[in-house]
Order: sequence, then structure tokens, then C-alpha cells
Amino acid sequence: MKLQANADLYRKLPSIDELQRGRKLIALASKEGQVAVTDAARAVLVSLREEIAAGRLDGDGVDLALSGLDDVVARRVRQALKYSLRSVINATGVILHTNLGRAPLPTASLEHIREIAGSYSNLELDLETGDRGKRDVHVDRLFRKLLDEHVGARVGAGVPARAAEPTISTIVVNNNAAAVLLALNTLAENGEVIVSRGELVEIGGSFRIPDVMAKSNANLREVGTTNRTRIGDYEQGINEKTRLLLRVHRSNFQITGFTEQPQINELVSLARKRDIPLLEDLGSGALFDLRSVGVNGEPSVLDSLRQGVDVVTYSGDKLLGGPQAGMLSGRSDLIARMRSNSLFRALRVDKLSYAALEATLLAYVKGEHDAIPALRMMRLSKEEIGRRAEAVAQTVRSPKLSVQVLDGESLIGGGAAPSAVLPTRLLAIACEGVSADELSGHLRTSDPPIIARVEDGRVLLDLRTVFPEQDEAITRALKQVAGK
Ligand SMILES: *Cc1c(COP(=O)(O)O)cnc(C)c1O
Repeated sequence: MKLQANADLYRKLPSIDELQRGRKLIALASKEGQVAVTDAARAVLVSLREEIAAGRLDGDGVDLALSGLDDVVARRVRQALKYSLRSVINATGVILHTNLGRAPLPTASLEHIREIAGSYSNLELDLETGDRGKRDVHVDRLFRKLLDEHVGARVGAGVPARAAEPTISTIVVNNNAAAVLLALNTLAENGEVIVSRGELVEIGGSFRIPDVMAKSNANLREVGTTNRTRIGDYEQGINEKTRLLLRVHRSNFQITGFTEQPQINELVSLARKRDIPLLEDLGSGALFDLRSVGVNGEPSVLDSLRQGVDVVTYSGDKLLGGPQAGMLSGRSDLIARMRSNSLFRALRVDKLSYAALEATLLAYVKGEHDAIPALRMMRLSKEEIGRRAEAVAQTVRSPKLSVQVLDGESLIGGGAAPSAVLPTRLLAIACEGVSADELSGHLRTSDPPIIARVEDGRVLLDLRTVFPEQDEAITRALKQVAGK
């Protein structure tokens, strides 16, 4: 009986062909393509059949569904053709937020990507000689300006500086995790790497030093304890299998209290004395002086190289403010070995990344720090942020929407010193009859999506990480929430 009834209902449904022959869908197909429309029409009919089979639709229900079928198909087509990767407004105040894509690129990087990626380029062609070129020359020349010319004469572990050659070279791989992998594999395959137990870190997204070590075919030799490691511990750990001393930046945590860690210059002296290279995974790797924004105790790439670290690794999209990439900067002879490792070929970056990185580095060379969005955001004053916050507050405040402007802290994020915060002014928002989680959900699903912080039952917006031209979208979204 039921089956017979369902069969009658199924018979009411149009075929895919009939459905597509409607005027609206013909027009839609000419705009968005027949394939997308056919896919959507099929999916809509399948779900109607499922509804009928599950007994959730009677005759009237089917008639009702059929009356708006064109629109349902059209909505589905639009949904399917929308980008999944979208631009969002970062109002969290975390400048380098891994979930939000870390550093926004400088305008010059975007223009250079467009120019290089939309056409052919001299990626691996020497235009002077017509010979095959190396893709890393495009950025190595800029790294030399930023690093080599400032490090001064260095004498590596037992390797005298060679007159005509640059002392510091840089190569680029896919990300810093890849840079560490390449360095460990090149310098310590089948040998031992000495690391302090206090530095066996896991960075967000499951980058774990012991795992990377295992994949690189190097053996970890842990020394010291979680909270205290002395230079003598490293010294005692050295044996005939030791190939490398590794220092890892404690990006996302601090050890406080009864602690000890050797100074970098102690490690450099030991490395030179025993003729073993010293590798430092800096993680964030600033190319500018963080003290200029009030953050102390964070080593820069130059600091480490000047102190005599042989090779440093760091990310392109953290404090550097450029594209995702991993840099290896250091002694030219060691970098040359990394370049000839076949892993380098597997980890190399594409023309988009080189274009973005070259433009970012050029901004550093020209001293145009404000052209790099992540740096510009770090340099914004609390007063300037406060003025913008007040302007937003005044426009959106209403009986239903309570808006305060408060002192607070922005985070640099992305594995800069875990305690590195910048003073800011926050918008604290509460909406009558709406919980903080609901309110932040509304903001997250507005267009463009706005990502806020929720703390102590309040929604907090930090305009430090919001581009000024986005303030208006925030105002609009808040008004809309209050109007609901
Ligand atoms: C962030 C970080 C990494 C990983 O860098 P990616 O560029 O994300 O691969 C590795 N080591 C340290 C110390 C870091 O802070």
C-alpha cells in the first residue's frame, strides 16, 4: 500500500531533462554552465526521492516542493560555484594567526605575483648569458643585502672565510618545517643531533622536533632536563657520531622558575671547539628589530648569524611578513650542501612564492617597513587603534547593543615570543538577548566573515589586525546584528 503511494509520488517528480527545460534553468545554464546546472538538478531530485522514501513528504508536500524547484536548483548551483577559500576580517588582534593564513602579503607582492604567474618568466633562465639559471638567485641577492653585508667577517667552525665568496647564503623551501628537515638530513643523516630536553617542542599543526628528526634519518640525542640544560650537558653528549648541535626556539611556550639554558655564544664556542655545526631553528625569524615595537628578548635572524650560528631556519609567513616559505640562511659551504641534496628538489617553492618573497624582501631593502602589513600592524599605536574603535563604537551603539572601548593586548602570534604582546584598545560588545558565542557566530557567518575573540562572556574586537578600509564592514555587521 505504502509502496504504491510512494510510486505515485515519485511519478509527480520531473525527469532531469524536464526540470532543466524550465526557462530559469536554461538561463542559468547559459551563465554558469550546463554541467553545474545538471549536477545541481540531479542532486535536488535525489534528495526529494530520499524525502519521499523516508515518508517525510505527502502529496501536498511534493506539490509544494515542486513549485519552488527552480529556485532550489539555482541556489545549489550558486553554492557549488562559490569559492570555499574566502577572505575574512581578522578582528582577533593576533597578527600572525595560523588559522587565518598568517601574514597578509604586501601589495607589491600581489602585483609581482600577478605579473610573474600570469605569464612566462626568467625563473630559471639567465637573461645575460641565455644559460639555464637557478631559481633561488632572485631572492638570494636580496638576502645577501639584508644579512651578509651586516654579519661582517665570520669564521665558521674550522672553515676560514673565503675572500671572494659571500659568507652567508640563503635558500628557500616550502616552509620552515621543510627547512628543518632539509638541514637535519643534509648535516646529520645517520649521525646524532644534540638537543636540549627543554627544546623538544611541538608547534601547532603537529610539527614535532623528534618526528622531523626521525624522518630526516638523524638520531636525536637528548641532553639536560626539561627545565635546566647547561653547556656541560651538550659537551658530555658529544661523541664520534655527533654531526650537529641543534637549538630550537621555544615558540609557543615559556619555561619559568628554576630554569637554565646556555647562551647562544656558549653554544657557538662549543660548536667551533669541537668542529660541529650549530643549527638554530628560529621559527619566526625576524628580519627587523622587534625592540622597535617594544618586544624584547626575541632573537632576530641577524642576531643569531652575528653571534656565529652556522645555519638558521625560519618561516616566510611569520614575523618576516611574506608568503609561506622556509628559509635556510647561513655558512655558504653548508648551504651549498643543502642545495645539492635531492630533498631540496622535492621541497622547492614555485614562482608564486618567489615573486611574493622577492617583493617583500625588496620592501626591507628599501626600508619600507609599513609596506609589509604584518609589520605595519605591529607598529600601530594604541592611540590610533583607539580612535578607530571609538568611531565604530559611536556609530553602532544602541539600546540593544552595548559597546565599550577598553585597554587590552594584541598578540604577535605565529611563534614569536609567547609573551610578546602589544598594548591595544578593544571593542567589547554585548547584545541584549544574545550570548557572546551566538554574537561571535553571527559575525563569523556575515559577509565578509568577521573573526572575533570571546573572553569572559564578551565579544572582543581588536582593530589592530583589521585593515582600516574594513572598519565599515564591521560597523555594518554590528548594526545588522543589533537590528535582528
Ligand atoms: C612555526 C615554527 C616551525 C614551523 O614553521 P612552518 O613555516 O609553519 O613550517 C618550526 N619551528 C619553530 C620553532 C616554529 O616556531
